Amino acid sequence: MKDGRVFPTGALPPLDGELSLDAGVRAAAADDFGHVVEKTPLGVLRPASARDVAVVTRWAAENGLKVAARGRGHSTFGRSQVDAGIVVDMAYFDEIHRVGDDRVTVGAGTTWRSVVAATLPDHLTPPVLPNYLDLSVGGTLSVGGIGVSTHQYGMQTDNVCELEVVTGDGEILICSPETNSELFNSVRAGLGQFGVIIRATLTLVPAPDRARTYVLSYADLEGLAADQQLLLRRGGVDHLRGSIVLDDDAWQHQLEIAVLLGADDHPDDDVVLAGLADDRSHAQIDDLSYAEYLEAFDRFTELLCSTGEWADPHPWWMTFLPGSVAVKVAHEVIADLVSEDLGGHGFVVFYPLDKGQITTPLVRMPNEEIVFVFNLVRFASTGPEHVERLLEQNWTLYRRVLTAGGVLYPVSAFPLTPEEWEKHFGSAWPMVREAKGRFDPSRCFTPGYEVF
Ligand SMILES: Cc1cc2nc3c(=O)[nH]c(=O)nc-3n(C[C@H](O)[C@H](O)[C@H](O)COP(=O)(O)OP(=O)(O)OC[C@H]3O[C@@H](n4cnc5c(N)ncnc54)[C@H](O)[C@@H]3O)c2cc1C
Repeated sequence: MKDGRVFPTGALPPLDGELSLDAGVRAAAADDFGHVVEKTPLGVLRPASARDVAVVTRWAAENGLKVAARGRGHSTFGRSQVDAGIVVDMAYFDEIHRVGDDRVTVGAGTTWRSVVAATLPDHLTPPVLPNYLDLSVGGTLSVGGIGVSTHQYGMQTDNVCELEVVTGDGEILICSPETNSELFNSVRAGLGQFGVIIRATLTLVPAPDRARTYVLSYADLEGLAADQQLLLRRGGVDHLRGSIVLDDDAWQHQLEIAVLLGADDHPDDDVVLAGLADDRSHAQIDDLSYAEYLEAFDRFTELLCSTGEWADPHPWWMTFLPGSVAVKVAHEVIADLVSEDLGGHGFVVFYPLDKGQITTPLVRMPNEEIVFVFNLVRFASTGPEHVERLLEQNWTLYRRVLTAGGVLYPVSAFPLTPEEWEKHFGSAWPMVREAKGRFDPSRCFTPGYEVF
C-alpha cells in the first residue's frame, strides 16, 4: 500500500461484494461527523450479503486485523474507525425487507428516514425515533437510541423483536428475546463489541396524523425543570424535551412538548398547559402533519449547513444525571460555560425521563427512577486548539457528572480507558466481559471505543 502498511497476503475467499482498497474510499472511512479522530483502514468492505461480513470477519480474525461496522458515520469520536483493519460499509444493507402489522424488517444500514418512509403509508411508525433521521438503524441500536418518547417506550433498543448478527468467529446468527438471548442482550447498546448487526426487525405502533407542538419559555432552569417534571408526572403530553441556549449573553430556557393527534382530535391547549409557569406571552403553538413534525430537525441541519457548522468539528458531550441533583449539577456546569464552548448554534439539552420503560441490559442509567438527559451539542469552528480544549473540558465535566452519580451516554467525544469503561458498565461489566469472550474471542470488533 502507498502508506507503507502491508496488506495481509492470506487468501481472502471470494466475496459477493468487494473489498475496496481505493485510497478515496478508505479516506472517507477515516472521517466521521465528529471530525476529531482520523484513522485510515486497510480496506473497506462493500458487502453484498451477510456471508461477506462473515467471511471477512473470519479472515480478519485469522490475520490479526480489526473490523468495525460503519453505519452512517455520525460518531463524534472515531467509534466506527479502525487503522489496522477493515471497515464494513453498512450503507449497502439498506433494504426494507418487510412491513408487517406491528413490525418492520430492515437492513441495519437503513436510515430511520427510510424506515419511516416505508411504514407511514401503512399508518405505522417506530415508537422511538432520533431527532435526526439520517442515522442508521444499526448505529443507534449499537448505542441505545434515545428519543422524545423514551419516557413512554424506552430506548430504541427496547423496541427490537429480532436481529441477524455476524459474530467474531464468522457465524451468522438470529437472536431475539427467545433465541440466542445472550447475543440479543449483548449487541443491543453493545457499542459494536460483540457482532455486526446485519438485519433488524423493529416494533411498530399506529402513527398519528398530526402533532401539536408547544415551545414554552422560562426565566430560569428551576422553572423549566419544575414544569418538565410536572408534565412527566401528569402525563397528557406525548413528547417532552428541553433546551437551553445562550442568546446575547443571557441563557434562554425552553420546554418543547408535543401532543400526537388522530385526524379528528382537537387538543384543548388550556388542559395541556394547565398549571405551567412559563412566560405565556412567548409561547409558540403549531400544528404539523406527523411527517412534517418528524422532519422538523431538518430545518436545523439546513441552517447548520448554511453557516458551515455542519462541517465543523463536533466535540459533543452527552450524559444522564440523577433527577435529585440534576438542576444543581446542570447549574454548575452551565455557569462555567462561555459562548465559545457551544459555538454559534450550539445548545444544551436538558429534560427528564422516567427510566421505567428502559430494560436493555447494556443501556446504563443513574440509579434513580427519574433521570435527566444533559447534553452539550457544540460546534468548534476556530481551529485545533479550540477542539483540544473542548475535549479536555468534556473529560473534566464527565468527572463532575460521575461524582454526582451521573452516567455517560456513549456517543460523547472523549477517550475512555478500558478501566473507565469497566466502571461505566458497572454491574453489567461481567456480562460484557463474558459476551466478549464468547462472541468475539479474537477481540476483533470495533476497536474505536477502546473497551478492551
Ligand atoms: C445530528 C445527530 C443527531 C443525533 N441524534 C440522536 C438522537 O436523537 N438519539 C440518539 O440516541 N442518538 C443521537 N445521535 C447519536 C447517534 O445515535 C450515534 O452517533 C449513532 O451511533 C450514529 O449512528 P450512525 O449510523 O451514523 O453510526 P456510526 O457512527 O456509523 O457508528 C456508530 C457506532 O456503532 C457501530 N455500528 C454501526 N452500525 C453497526 C452495526 N450494524 N452493527 C454493529 N455495530 C454498528 C459503529 O461501529 C460505531 O461504533 C445523534 C448524532 C448526530 C450526529
